[in-house]
Amino acid sequence: MNSIVAIVGRPNVGKSTLFNRLVQRREAIVDSVSGVTRDRHYGKSDWNGKEFSVIDTGGYIVGSDDIFEGEIRKQVALAIEEADIIVFVVDVEEGITPMDAEVAKLLRKVKKPIFIAVNKVDNAMRAADAVEFYNLGLGDYHTISSINGSGTGDLLDALAEKMPEPEEVDLEKEELPRFAVVGRPNAGKSSFINALIGEDRNIVTNIAGTTRDSIDTKYNRFGFDFNLVDTAGIRKKSRVKEDLEFYSVMRAVRSIEYSDVIILVVDATRGFEGQDQNIFWLAEKNRKGIVILINKWDLIEKETNTMRDFEAMVRKQIEPFTDVPIVFISALTKQRLFKAIETAVDVFNNRKNRIPTSKFNDTMLEVVKSYPPPATKGKFVKIKYCMQLPTPTPQFAFFCNLPQYVKDPYKRFVENKLREIYNFTGIPITIYFRQK
Ligand code: GDP
Ligand code: GDP
Repeated sequence: MNSIVAIVGRPNVGKSTLFNRLVQRREAIVDSVSGVTRDRHYGKSDWNGKEFSVIDTGGYIVGSDDIFEGEIRKQVALAIEEADIIVFVVDVEEGITPMDAEVAKLLRKVKKPIFIAVNKVDNAMRAADAVEFYNLGLGDYHTISSINGSGTGDLLDALAEKMPEPEEVDLEKEELPRFAVVGRPNAGKSSFINALIGEDRNIVTNIAGTTRDSIDTKYNRFGFDFNLVDTAGIRKKSRVKEDLEFYSVMRAVRSIEYSDVIILVVDATRGFEGQDQNIFWLAEKNRKGIVILINKWDLIEKETNTMRDFEAMVRKQIEPFTDVPIVFISALTKQRLFKAIETAVDVFNNRKNRIPTSKFNDTMLEVVKSYPPPATKGKFVKIKYCMQLPTPTPQFAFFCNLPQYVKDPYKRFVENKLREIYNFTGIPITIYFRQK
């Protein structure tokens, strides 16, 4: 499982600048595909072969100055609870402020790896000033400049060292699907789970354990065996108010990391909102299977095209990855719960689709031959060979003479064709064009 890195610290020390630097490369790739730039406070990154999520806790602090202090304390407490690694950012220009000391006090009790990033060390002169941060009582520190990038490589090396080795995925092993039920507060997640597994809860086993006390519980419903990933949120009522956006994001990040298929519960009475979009995007970036459940459908006044129009609206919001099942349910009246689970199991199976190379070549080479990439500067791209890569989730490579000339619209065309021919509904796929 990938690690979650939380960036904490008081305002203006440079948390979001550091965040942007850490997720930059990945973000750039995603943005060029979807054509949008987004203001995000969490993202994926990788370093030395380790993938991880980064959360900028400061991005969630809203309100006036006087509520800052309490908010920060709350967010640091949450970061301590939910993240695997904590980066505490301080500002060399300002030195240790009372608020820094306060945060340090919270962090000193923590057993998780903590890194102090002394930021704004833009030149060697400032490095000497950093010594004072020993007084935080948290040991050694890293001097960095988030603006010019110096020191961030060393910091990343140190972070990566604390992360577990990537897991080997054994496709032959019969594993139960792991579902995570995520969504905005009040979307109906608990209602859905209760409606599904009821009070008696057909619990077969309770596998507690893994380093981060996530709990997998095995259920059987409608003849399907599956695990519900419960990252403590469902069972243990939190000490923190549920309406905190940061809180729900943290929970979502954790359960998404841990699951195969994300069941995104949406409140039909509120439409598909920014936060729904964020969770969707996060699942997509993590290459997880996705099912969207439009809940509280019982509350919607229906005319002939209500469902069709609603579905079209949602698909518009999730472009360009629209090959995702959308099921209209009511946790209250238990409408279409079977369909919801059946769909999630289908998506789980789609994620394991592996297409034999010879078959894939026969089909896809035919497709690209009948509609080749447009010529650029008088040069023609010739695709010679293609295959599904031996990766844990579906990824494909097309080998050709001039991969740099293959542009996004063509990649999307190939992806759409691939999705028409093979069933990857609910599964984010990646297509690479590589030099032959
Ligand atoms: P946050 O509130 O902790 O997220 O801080 P920001 O990332 O928004 O940065 C606060 C201010 O510090 C901005 O004006 C940044 O440009 C500046 N800043 C961030 N990192 C550095 C750095 O490494 N060196 C210098 N000189 N300024 C920085
Ligand atoms: P969570 O925060 O996502 O776990 O949401 P809850 O399951 O606690 O539900 C929030 C509120 O919506 C509660 O008052 C539920 O009774 C209500 N609710 C949940 N699902 C439905 C539904 O399908 N129909 C209706 N009418 N209300 C629902």
